[in-house]
Amino acid sequence: MNKQGHSALAFLAGSVTSVAALTASPMSTSLEVIGFAGVVCAASIVGGLAPDLDHKTSTASQKIQLSPRKRKLMRALSGIFLFIGFVLILLGYSIQAGAIWIGAGIIAGSLARLRTIILLASGALMLIGYAVYDWHWMALFTGAALLIMPFVKHRWIIHSPEFAIVLSLGLFVLGSQYPGLVMASCLGFIVGWWSHLFGDIFGNDGIRSLFVPKFKIALRLFDNGGAAERMISKLCQLFSILIWVLYGLVL
Ligand SMILES: [Zn+2]
Repeated sequence: MNKQGHSALAFLAGSVTSVAALTASPMSTSLEVIGFAGVVCAASIVGGLAPDLDHKTSTASQKIQLSPRKRKLMRALSGIFLFIGFVLILLGYSIQAGAIWIGAGIIAGSLARLRTIILLASGALMLIGYAVYDWHWMALFTGAALLIMPFVKHRWIIHSPEFAIVLSLGLFVLGSQYPGLVMASCLGFIVGWWSHLFGDIFGNDGIRSLFVPKFKIALRLFDNGGAAERMISKLCQLFSILIWVLYGLVL
């Protein structure tokens, strides 16, 4: 499934979850209802797109990297700058000038690999938070996940049900310590994440278990981004709207 299908499915999952939670423990003012549902649905869309951070060209990844053309340009510039820098130093022209060119080459190279660097840096921050500031163990888990993200195969660890189970448990425990909007965000992210795995099951690649790789579900019902997916997206949007209209009428 592509971005359109995943976000529509996640929005539907977020809407169902919000209405279920609101029915189980009703809120007194409509402002509270809108705040709660808004946070759950927004978090579910983020959660519904996040698993594809393990894919270099997914929508989630595009948010944290330059366009393919600019990446290519930066890689080329990086090579040229490094070359000039080393030539200047090796020919004994000027070490300072050489160092500046090499520095520029490293910066251009980093810009070409912005996604890797952002993922590694946020992962490292999470681990530091856990080690130094006693953050929740979810910080350790998320940090480790972000650190491996640039290096793992698409639809492997990050797309496995085992990862989803640990992530859900952790977020749920974290959320229950801070009821209100933190819990709403955790809940939304969890259902969005599962809706993503659910959506990927229908495609050709499917998802597989981390520990029992033979256990793989791929229903091969439609192609990524094809007409069937577009129709399912539209249906999910329609159902989400229906759910909220019905909820509004009953209230
Ligand atoms: Zn996916």
